[in-house]
Amino acid sequence: MTAPRRIVIVGTSIAGITAAEELRADGFDGTITLIGDETEQPYSKPPLSKAFLAGSETDDDIRLPDLDHLDIDLIAGVAAHGLDRDRRRVLLDGDEVPYDGLVIATGARAATLRDWGGNPDGLDETVLRTADDARALRALLVDGHRLTVVGGGVLGMEIASTAASAGMDVTVIGTTAPMLSALGPYVSQLILDRALDAGVIYSVASKGAVLEAAGGRTRVRAGGETIESDAVVTAVGCVPNVAWLRDSGLSVSPGLIVDERCRVASDIVAAGDVVSLQGRARTPHWSSALGQGRSAAAALLRGDEAEPYVARPYFWTHQFDLSLKVAGEGIPDHEPELLDGDLADLTALWRWSTDGSPVAAVALNRHIPISRLHAHAGQA
Ligand SMILES: Cc1cc2nc3c(=O)[nH]c(=O)nc-3n(C[C@H](O)[C@H](O)[C@H](O)COP(=O)(O)OP(=O)(O)OC[C@H]3O[C@@H](n4cnc5c(N)ncnc54)[C@H](O)[C@@H]3O)c2cc1C
Repeated sequence: MTAPRRIVIVGTSIAGITAAEELRADGFDGTITLIGDETEQPYSKPPLSKAFLAGSETDDDIRLPDLDHLDIDLIAGVAAHGLDRDRRRVLLDGDEVPYDGLVIATGARAATLRDWGGNPDGLDETVLRTADDARALRALLVDGHRLTVVGGGVLGMEIASTAASAGMDVTVIGTTAPMLSALGPYVSQLILDRALDAGVIYSVASKGAVLEAAGGRTRVRAGGETIESDAVVTAVGCVPNVAWLRDSGLSVSPGLIVDERCRVASDIVAAGDVVSLQGRARTPHWSSALGQGRSAAAALLRGDEAEPYVARPYFWTHQFDLSLKVAGEGIPDHEPELLDGDLADLTALWRWSTDGSPVAAVALNRHIPISRLHAHAGQA
């Protein structure tokens, strides 16, 4: 294959920046153009629901390292509107950028209840995806006020935890027990217990929640109940940012489908939350964005000779007094094996096995190298 000379990366968050770093680290000395629709300097998203939302981390604390050393042409505050694959052009508003290698790293947006039919009147929804969203949500965290969080997944529970620490009366509406699909029933119960101890009310409404207008406010209907509060935040997953690829002929449902080297087409690769690996559930986590950013860059430069991407799902979460690191997928329903730790002081290293083979491991309130956690989870 002929190595590209002009590489364009769309998306200026962790997947796009990692791809740029990897291209340079791999010796690529052609031009790199990085296009992003946000105007602020690239930042890290995980603190947005934790310390940054609480106000204990600042804008400077969450900034990603600057890009000066990478010799990049940065086009910031400009969205890509389309992709002309025949002419190899990324289309901007009234402009276009030519490429001979393209990295798509446009991530995902927050899903809303409107996406799931739970907002028939089209009310405004407060969501948390960007630094601006976090600033807006922080302004709603008022001691003594009531907050309803729709969504009992990782993000919803982190918001609930931060809001409860700020002195709010928090109600969470989930379609299942907290974080059940990510963590299985055993750890989910532990999280529920800690949430209840912190004063959070948790309701399961298997058919989901519906927003309705109530005077100047929004209230939530769920499982036959109506919940009034001062503020409502929706945390119901994320949707890959693929609308701009609508006319590109690429396969974009449920995300941008990539092969085992993160390739979408011969001159196009993709990484991060926008991606769907063939035949697997999406893993919209920080570590996936890093790993795929590296693999995507290598595949653009070396094609079939690049190492395939090895999916080793991993994420972490901090909520209430729990710090959890999770390796593996599909935690089974049965109780885990306790490898180490003591639940009496809220520390544990758990492992789940299926048919005698390890499939997942979770560390609770413990420092453990990620590689060791992967090993416990049976991930080479
Ligand atoms: C609040 C929050 C907390 C999180 N906490 C954790 C955690 O604790 N642990 C964990 O493992 N993961 C966590 N995650 C997930 C993690 O942050 C994401 O997996 C990661 O940010 C994905 O990176 P990305 O570069 O693929 O996409 P994104 O971070 O979504 O970035 C995509 C970028 O592309 C831009 N863009 C989109 N469309 C266009 C376009 N058409 N033209 C130009 N630019 C465009 C976007 O504005 C954005 O800047 C969290 C996410 C959020 C939102």
